[in-house]
Amino acid sequence: MNDKYDRDINYLRVSITDRCNLRCKYCLPKEGISLIGHDDILRYEEILKVIRVTVGLGIRKIRLTGGEPLVRKGLIEFIGEVNAIDGINDISLTTNGILLEAYAEKLFNAGIKRINISLDSLDESKYADITRGGNLQAVLRGIETVNRVGFSPIKINTVVIKGFNENEILDFAGMSLEKPYQIRFIELMPMGGRNRNNQYLSNDLVMSEIQKVYDLESLNGKRTKTDGPARIYKIKGGRGELGFISPVSHHFCFSCNRLRLTADGQLRACLLSDDEVDLKESLRAGCSEDELARIIKSAIINKPISHNLNTIDEEYHQKKCVREMSTIGG
Ligand code: SAM
Repeated sequence: MNDKYDRDINYLRVSITDRCNLRCKYCLPKEGISLIGHDDILRYEEILKVIRVTVGLGIRKIRLTGGEPLVRKGLIEFIGEVNAIDGINDISLTTNGILLEAYAEKLFNAGIKRINISLDSLDESKYADITRGGNLQAVLRGIETVNRVGFSPIKINTVVIKGFNENEILDFAGMSLEKPYQIRFIELMPMGGRNRNNQYLSNDLVMSEIQKVYDLESLNGKRTKTDGPARIYKIKGGRGELGFISPVSHHFCFSCNRLRLTADGQLRACLLSDDEVDLKESLRAGCSEDELARIIKSAIINKPISHNLNTIDEEYHQKKCVREMSTIGG
């Protein structure tokens, strides 16, 4: 269905857990987040009920995320059940890739054909540093495995962070020469408790660094089915693609088609607005699918026109959203 700004809301991102097997420095505080109690996480059957209702309202695409989705038990069976819901055209997954080698084939057979893997450094010790202990080789093996198993497209998500990986921009871009991956550069968003203004780098700068070395060909408008808000390019002669996702410098709210369901059952109509609708409470009070549909419809209609990250508050601080990405689902 359309919201009041006439955007067709057809995409639901579902965070199935707030737990993660990494502790990325910009995503989670060192001590970790206070994990939600087991009973406060939506059960799979509750998530399925929400998905069914949203499909009735026009949702056609589902992305599973977290936390780290691969750490939740029963995921493969759950995917099978999502896949069996009539009306869904597309199910995808976002993962840090640590457990991917072991899961790739099962995910594929359960119905996931498209996958996004987060990877912020190609240097072993830097990767271990930013993730607080992650093993780069495990992720690289995971990526090779999904490629061998036949996932397509395979998207590698890289958040560009000033002073950390800006010197790897060309290495990441270069991966798309040999491999059929879409390497996506993502701007760091101000989320959660820490101020990261000094680590932000705009994608215009990232692109101009790449253009100093490579000839880029724009694919924008040529094929956009699974590209969402990314601006897509190709290095001439390369097998893969480059994507630029610029929520801060070039926000794409006017074409935003998304809703998000957090692991603790909150529905967010905008990633970056802390306004939420508590679906868990309604689910646990035994509400019917019709009642749930009424609640979700109202959230869709009231979806904010845009995020306000570029607004400065009375104390001259850039606005940000209070929840960390890990507790919303990226
Ligand atoms: N664990 C999975 C993963 O690593 O892809 C899914 C959840 S993770 C929160 C999803 C994505 O959010 C990751 O690609 C991560 O880099 C990104 N992310 C987290 N905090 C962010 C921020 N402040 N700005 C931009 N991206 C962020």
